[in-house]
Amino acid sequence: MLIIDCPHCGPRHEQEFHYGKQAHVAYPQDPSALTDAEWARYLFYRDNPRGPHAERWVHTAGCRRWFNVVRDTLTYEIKAVYRAGEQPPQEYAALARPRGGVPAATTDQAVDPGTADTTKEA
Ligand SMILES: [Zn+2]
Repeated sequence: MLIIDCPHCGPRHEQEFHYGKQAHVAYPQDPSALTDAEWARYLFYRDNPRGPHAERWVHTAGCRRWFNVVRDTLTYEIKAVYRAGEQPPQEYAALARPRGGVPAATTDQAVDPGTADTTKEA
């Protein structure tokens, strides 16, 4: 059983959450300019590390907000939780760098859904 510390609600059982794939995958600035191979790489290629992995989660049975988690894929231990729009703690900063082979010119200024704050504070 995982206890996930929602940054808005506090610690809750994992059944209240849904996994939302890898965090910090920037949406290409101009998707129509990508080749089919680049678009496929953006859509389907994700890191699959043994160890810390930045992930997006949503608290579906609670506040319904998205946030980011650094979870160790070997131990399932949650190393850090941070709100959308924030960067991971310094020791995991490398997990927030764009990856995946999409040309850097199209990802440097792209919107990163892992850091874009799509929530509004009440
Ligand atoms: Zn919550």
